[in-house]
Amino acid sequence: MKKHNFSPGPCILPQQVFEKTSKAVLDYNGIGLSVMEISHRSKEFIEIMENARTLALEHLGLENKGYKALFLQGGASMQFLMASYNLLEKKAAYLNTGTWSSKAVKEAKLFGEVIEVASSKDANFNYIPKDYTIPPDVDYFHCTSNNTIFGTQLKTLPQTDVPVVCDMSSDIFSRNLDFSKFGLIYAGAQKNMGPSGTTLVVIKEDILGKVSRSIPSMLDYKVHLDKDSMFNTPPVLAVYVSMLTLEWLKEKGGISAMEKINEAKAGLLYTEIDRNPLFKGFVAQKGDRSPMNATFNLTDESVKEKFDTMWKEAGINGLNGHRSVGGYRASMYNALPLESVQVLVDVMQEAERTA
Ligand code: PMP
Repeated sequence: MKKHNFSPGPCILPQQVFEKTSKAVLDYNGIGLSVMEISHRSKEFIEIMENARTLALEHLGLENKGYKALFLQGGASMQFLMASYNLLEKKAAYLNTGTWSSKAVKEAKLFGEVIEVASSKDANFNYIPKDYTIPPDVDYFHCTSNNTIFGTQLKTLPQTDVPVVCDMSSDIFSRNLDFSKFGLIYAGAQKNMGPSGTTLVVIKEDILGKVSRSIPSMLDYKVHLDKDSMFNTPPVLAVYVSMLTLEWLKEKGGISAMEKINEAKAGLLYTEIDRNPLFKGFVAQKGDRSPMNATFNLTDESVKEKFDTMWKEAGINGLNGHRSVGGYRASMYNALPLESVQVLVDVMQEAERTA
């Protein structure tokens, strides 16, 4: 039986995507070949790549606005350095809201001066800093829209005229934002978009070409753009599954429809966390809570063994918190149904009754 999958990533994808993928792995569209054994230069794969790139821009409302989408390799971690390689001439501003932001800062320092405009490290990243200013003379401002490990999310973007670079790995396609406010968006596929192995990069083309250093071809956005995301062999299966997930998102009504469902799921779980005396949310201010990753702890550690047995017996997977936070983390990505959240809430209530 299918488990209730709260894994932080790689994570749940729509069941219909798994079904379509399993067919295409054996025989893609009845051509007598697996999607994995055709050339990436074949008309079939070029169509998959173009469809995936177009759908990504369409969902973000960025078609015909000077943006292009790429499916690259190396994970979001590669983007920590690739963004700086391509954009950092003198200095850049970074908002440090967690482990992934900190890693992005570390890579950027190899390329120029980094101004950390604010950090919530002092409180183990349990809040989003609000009062900071972005110097007007930086090459770009970098932020992480959703902090997967700590369960916080940036609700509003700061006003700035410099290009905004954003790591949206764990909340892309989950909520509406004015995506045209960003110069560069990147996201590892393995949460709301597909399997691991590819990273979506959305670039406003006019922010490129401003650094004086030479950039190795594989790390140069322009090289990948000029080759329509096919400079070298792309991760064909990961791109194909991402395309199917983006098609599924379209069938479901796109980001706006998904946002409503995500709000309902998050509302259900956070209401229980706040109501149930056995649990306590990790994030300091409710307004900073992420609908994608809900982090919480037990108020009475003596019930841990029992609670852990209960949720596992209910068919729940992937609820353990990250080692740097402890406790629990319920990741509720787009493909997770509301019913799975209800199962978790039922278990939490049962744990309270029997404590
Ligand atoms: N940024 C965020 C917000 C993440 O959650 C992760 C991990 N999934 C990463 C970056 C690193 O991604 P990757 O493992 O694809 O390099």
